[in-house]
Amino acid sequence: MTQNAIEIEALRKTYNSPGQPPKEALKGIDLNIPKGSVFGLLGPNGAGKSTLINILAGLVVKTSGRVKIWGFDQDVNPRQSRAAIGVMPQELNLDAFFTPRGTLEVQAGLYGVPKAQRRTQEILHTIGLEDKAEAYARTLSGGMQRRLLLGKALVHSPQILVLDEPTAGVDVGLRQMLWTNVRKLNEQGMTIILTTHYLEEAEAMCDEIAIINHGEVIVRDTTESLLAQMDAKTLVVTPEGDTPATLELPPEVQLERAPGGVLRLTYQRGEIATGAVLDLVRNAGITLRDVATEEARLEDVFVELTKSRS
Ligand code: ADP
Ligand code: MG
Repeated sequence: MTQNAIEIEALRKTYNSPGQPPKEALKGIDLNIPKGSVFGLLGPNGAGKSTLINILAGLVVKTSGRVKIWGFDQDVNPRQSRAAIGVMPQELNLDAFFTPRGTLEVQAGLYGVPKAQRRTQEILHTIGLEDKAEAYARTLSGGMQRRLLLGKALVHSPQILVLDEPTAGVDVGLRQMLWTNVRKLNEQGMTIILTTHYLEEAEAMCDEIAIINHGEVIVRDTTESLLAQMDAKTLVVTPEGDTPATLELPPEVQLERAPGGVLRLTYQRGEIATGAVLDLVRNAGITLRDVATEEARLEDVFVELTKSRS
């Protein structure tokens, strides 16, 4: 049995809309997503994230390639592969005349979950909609509708939960509720895949990340190793008293002067150690009032990669 929740091979999608040139949204994606992970799919708008997710969900038909979900080939075992995955889509797509309870029951019916095995009440509780269980969906706020979409994705107890931009445009409370739920579900063993363009969120939530740009995976790695690859580090020094007008520095250290006499010294960790940079400062006769370091952020990685290869 494979250790991958999802296996994608040479996946292509070209949209053919009448009166428009064909749009190549996915240009040959190869990607494995390990079981048990929280996996982030990042990329700028139009990169192809939703297309990829909607293919996994069976909502968009691929042009070519191979998709295996929980070991089941989508084309060979469509029923089993669909049963293994639950998707919270980017767009609100609820039936206005169903209540949250009705919505969850209908969804469970579609997935063939027998009445005795339905978890409607439990899910209503998880998504915090117990007291709105009998309200029409159209009367729910946008945030409540998004929570209901999460509930819909959970009715058949899938092994894999996919969230497409779950926190785009939602308020802080809902964002927190979503992350608490996602963490809890992952601890219980569910594999989570999410797309986001909030990099801080990906940095905080995801074990592994793939960055998609123009329909191609340009990088795929653990979050930790991605951040480590960004070798640049900055030492921020606030001197006691006046900053000397000149400072002798080797070529591998770049100096930038910030307001308040603050010195920003940027260097590559592979080229010079932080201690050595600090010694240079001390040897120049500077007394340190404060010193801090800044690591590379995922934001920097992202900008760097999408810039250099687009
Ligand atoms: P993302 O989710 O990363 O923003 P999408 O997968 O939504 O990207 O879109 C990828 C590309 O495919 C975009 O250029 C988009 O305009 C195009 N696209 C998406 N859906 C359709 C569609 N139904 N018909 C035609 N083009 C589409
Ligand atoms: Mg999208």
